[in-house]
This record gives sequence, C-alpha cells and structure tokens, in this order.
Amino acid sequence: MPSEGPGLLDYEATLDCVHCGLCLPHCPTYQETGRETSSPRGRIYLMRGVAEGRLPLDRDVVDEMYFCLACRACESACPSGVRYGHLIEGMRAEIDRRGARSRTSRFLQRLVLRRVVGSPPVLRAVFALLRFYQRSGIQGAVRASGILRPLPGLRDADGMLPPIPAPHRLPLILPAEGPRRGRVALLSGCIMPELFGPVNEATARVLTRNGFEVETPAGQACCGALHQHAGDPEAAERLHARNLQAIHTDTLDAVVVNSAGCGAFLRERGDPFASKVRDVSEFLIEAGIAAPERRLELRVAYDDPCHLLHGQRVESAPRELLRAIPGVEVVDLAGTRDCCGAAGIYNLLQPEMSRRLMDRKVAAIREAAPDVVATGNPGCMLQLGAGIRAAGLPVTVAHPVELLARAYA
Ligand code: SF4
Ligand code: SF4
Repeated sequence: MPSEGPGLLDYEATLDCVHCGLCLPHCPTYQETGRETSSPRGRIYLMRGVAEGRLPLDRDVVDEMYFCLACRACESACPSGVRYGHLIEGMRAEIDRRGARSRTSRFLQRLVLRRVVGSPPVLRAVFALLRFYQRSGIQGAVRASGILRPLPGLRDADGMLPPIPAPHRLPLILPAEGPRRGRVALLSGCIMPELFGPVNEATARVLTRNGFEVETPAGQACCGALHQHAGDPEAAERLHARNLQAIHTDTLDAVVVNSAGCGAFLRERGDPFASKVRDVSEFLIEAGIAAPERRLELRVAYDDPCHLLHGQRVESAPRELLRAIPGVEVVDLAGTRDCCGAAGIYNLLQPEMSRRLMDRKVAAIREAAPDVVATGNPGCMLQLGAGIRAAGLPVTVAHPVELLARAYA
C-alpha cells in the first residue's frame, strides 16, 4: 500500500468486484462510449489502482469518476453485491481530500451545494429571483436575443427551467380524513417546495385521504444526498443532523419521502431514522389505498428513477399505484431502467452525455406515445420535462401521487 493509501475510499469494498463484467451492458456511460474505463469494472479498477499506489490520481482518473452518473444501475446488475454507490462517493471524497480536482470546480460546486442548496433562506431568495426573471419577461427577451448562445452551460440551465410556480409551504399538521390510521412526517425537501410545491401538496393530500395525519416539521433542511454524491460527506452529515433535530421519529409511523434521491440517501444512513423512511408509493401500497372515485382516461408511461429502482429497490409500487387509478392505462416505456441523464447536478456538469441519455428517453417516449410520463424524483421530472418540451411532444410529466390525488374527488 502506498503512503497515501485509500483515504476516504472503502478499499476493502473494492475487492468485492470479481471483474466478471456482467454490469457493463447496464452502464449508460459504457453503452455510449464502449470504453472500459467508463464502465463500473473499469472505474473500480482505477479506484483500486490509485489506492494501491499503482496508478496516479491524475486528471484522467478524476474525470472518469465525475463522468460516472452514480446511477447505480451496475449495483442492480452485480451478482457479487458490489456497493458501487458507496465506492464512487468515497472515491470522490478522496479526490477532494487530496486536492486532485481543479480548485475552480471544487469551489463552484461547494458554493452551489453548501451555500445555496444547503441553506433554505438563500435557496428561497434564488428561486424568488428566478420567478422574477421568468415573469417579468426577461427570460423571453434573453432567449430571443440569443445572448446565451456562446455560454452553453447557462443556456442549457435556462432551457431546463420549467415555469416556476408560486412557492408552496405545507402547514405543520394536516389532520387525517376519516378514521385515523397513523401519523407520518413528510420530508418536504429543498427544491420541492420551490419548484414542485404541487407534488408535496399532492403527497400530503393522498396521505390524509388515506387516513394518515401528516406532519411537515419546520426547520427541515436539504437531506444532503447531493452533497454526499458529490464527495462532500461533511456537508451531508451536517444537513442530516439538522433533519434529525427537526423530525422526531418516535411518534411517527414513517417519514414519507417523494423524492427518490433523498429517500435512497436517508435509508442508507443506518440510523433509527433510516428505518422509518419510506418512498410515498411504497408506503401507500403497503398500507393499502382507498379506491379513487374519478376516472382519468390517460395513457401513462412510468419511468423508474435510478435511486428508487437501484438505490431503494422499489419497482412495482409506483406502477401498482398508477394501475389503481380507474381509466389509467400504464404503457411500456423502453429503457425505463436506464438513467435519464439528470443524476443530481450531472446534467449541468456533463451536459453532452446528459443530453445523449435524455435523447434516448425522448425517443422512447415518442415511441410509447403516452399522455403523461410519471416519475418520482424532481431531477428526473426536470430533465424529462426539458427533453419533452424541446422535442415538442404533447406529453406532460407528473409524479405518480399527483395523478392519484387528481383521481380522488
Ligand atoms: S453508477 Fe451508473 S454510470 Fe456509474 S458505473 Fe454504475 S452504471 Fe455506470
Ligand atoms: S461490479 Fe459486479 S458485475 Fe461489475 S465487474 Fe465487478 S463483480 Fe462483476
């Protein structure tokens, strides 16, 4: 072992990989490039080589670690139980510990994740500015002028933005409708109240309608998943500690989460809080749901969020929930197990690969011709919405609970 050693990388866990290659066909970056180094097996080989001192932690290795989507499709495919998500997070943290990444990208990432996403007042202010930008007509003028054409990063970020609704905060307590079956807390998330307030509202609505008292504790922060995936476990732990203070699980049946990335991160903490975390679709299906009164005559294609499918292994519950809605026809979508290219902030950091993966999704959606694409993660909703808008398809994007809420009279 070299003097530097594995540091924050769990070197022992890299040894679980037996190089069988069964994960390769499931890896989006390998599918697109055909490069061994852009595959899970190749990346684990690089991690091990760096930890053993056989390889330098140079620019090529660092770039590969950030070219990975951390989608964890390789974990679902791996017969040896390699915990790839855990490995890539540790490796990214180690890269930062050794200062092997460009200072500018590290600084910008930390600025956005720690000072904006991790700070509710700053995040609220940023979204207030973005709302003004859209509603004042400035966005339209900027787009018409083509001023962002030489700045592809900003142009893509602007193109991703859906119309931002008014912010939506849920009351502290919403009583159960009818006989009370239990009490749950809703993890309201960081960008959800700003960008997807109607999803939080629909989540609370379907829970109360099914007999659960819903508490939305004040003082919640971002769950820390984005920070952990980006190799900043310190910030992730700080945010998690704030949520542990804000959400008291002893009187709760569950902490219900409607964002796949947050749910996967929280469930893997290995603390008592983790044991209470449930994805909303899973919680509702396990509890049993009241039959919806309204018919929705819709063809719905469900797209699996990676961190629900591969991170939480929740696959059937969202589909069962959709099938419980009278009139809904759940149609097949090709490549539903593959990443859409959103992957946290990957679409901003790796726009070219992200676009290629989004284009594959849009082609599949065009083929399936649904009325609605349903998915349970805000990043995926943004990414799919942007792809669908750019392609001019007559398709909307919704969270499964939004459709269920619509079906309750
Ligand atoms: S996490 Fe996704 S992109 Fe990264 S190696 Fe695994 S399958 Fe490939
Ligand atoms: S990660 Fe798993 S599936 Fe992929 S090469 Fe290693 S042992 Fe095989």
